[in-house]
Amino acid sequence: MDPHIWYPFSQAKTALEPLKVKAAKGIWLELEDGRRIIDCISSWWVNLYGHAHPKIAQAIFQQAQQLEHVIFAGFTHEPAEQLAERLTALLPSNLSRVFFSDDGSTAVEVALKMAYQYWINLGQKRSAFIAFEGSYHGDTFGAMSVGSRSPFSQAFTDLLFEVEFLPFPATHLQDQEVSLRESLVINQLENCLSQNPDRYAAIIIEPLVQGAGGMRLCRPEFIQQLRHISQAFNVLLIFDEVMTGFGRTGSVFASDRAGVAPDIICLSKGITGGFLPLAVTVCSEMIYNAFYSDDIYKALYHGHSYTANPLGCAAALASLELLEEFKPAFEGLEAKHLSHFPALQSLPQVEKLRVMGTIAALDLITPDTPGYFNQIAPRIRQAALEQGLLLRPLGNVLYLMPPYCITEAELAHVYRGIIQLIETMLHN
Ligand SMILES: *Cc1c(COP(=O)(O)O)cnc(C)c1O
Repeated sequence: MDPHIWYPFSQAKTALEPLKVKAAKGIWLELEDGRRIIDCISSWWVNLYGHAHPKIAQAIFQQAQQLEHVIFAGFTHEPAEQLAERLTALLPSNLSRVFFSDDGSTAVEVALKMAYQYWINLGQKRSAFIAFEGSYHGDTFGAMSVGSRSPFSQAFTDLLFEVEFLPFPATHLQDQEVSLRESLVINQLENCLSQNPDRYAAIIIEPLVQGAGGMRLCRPEFIQQLRHISQAFNVLLIFDEVMTGFGRTGSVFASDRAGVAPDIICLSKGITGGFLPLAVTVCSEMIYNAFYSDDIYKALYHGHSYTANPLGCAAALASLELLEEFKPAFEGLEAKHLSHFPALQSLPQVEKLRVMGTIAALDLITPDTPGYFNQIAPRIRQAALEQGLLLRPLGNVLYLMPPYCITEAELAHVYRGIIQLIETMLHN
């Protein structure tokens, strides 16, 4: 372990030595010792078109020679303006104002602050949020507060603000009970809102896929009901599309696939194609107008040193051009995943197969209790590496989220590897 680095999400004393990566190209990571590994999870879900795509690299290089960074208060620049224009053209039409920040957690912080202050600016105080069990929205304090309580946030519980958590109606292929599960959640939501109509500033959800919570899927129908109720009770709806954005769900945004426009959307991860940290929180004109005033107290006093960094914006603009080019690829991955499911379905160690666009997932049946700290995860991770695959199960949930450039032959190779891993590591 490097003597000067404190690695994220790790207990240094028991963690395995991290692998040193020398280079990456397409779906391949090249290690210092010469080994090559397939990146089956798009490197923490950020990469879209394969590593080191030359078009994005070139756009960053050109921008760096023109304008690398400038304070974004009192100044603006072409890459930010172009990106805001391009993004709002792609997003649901009510989302019109782009606020820049640096990562998924800050995109969520901004959304929460927008929603909370929106009501204050209208002369109301709404002190709580509604979120979902199993959700993950980031590691800063606001994002932790609306995230499901977990070992990650345990030390900070007393510092987190008030949130009402509702069950998430997770579903999978051949699920017979999903409508019932959804209507129970919807009833619970209606009860919450009718008992305390002025208490909740907003509902926040990862639409269609809860990522870190275990690649848990819900149906578009549920998201549609959520929108209906939030409108009926006049509560804001925030979509955290930090992971689902930019083609992951088989549509450009989960909002498109669900057919629902939120009041606020958070985007990051894939926004630069996986090259640079950048995030946006995009809101409706209605929200923006509540801050637009002669009263200085009604402004949103939030910003970061690298807000709207021109290199990040240039990377994002290049990435949006590639998104168009890769449309057939991200739209086609769901069918390709599904073609490999029959082989998995026959394994007794596997249940709850599911797919949403480019993301495929399953639950492993293990003797251990399900959940993030299930002992199968580190064992599979290690065995997968020995097969040349980067997999990072979320507890007993094994998933694939490859870059969109993966070929059919490469995907078939990955599925063969997974089946072999399951059969050798879990004897039933
Ligand atoms: C990763 C993630 C975040 C946090 O993003 P960071 O860039 O890691 O801060 C927030 N929400 C969702 C849905 C995520 O997947």
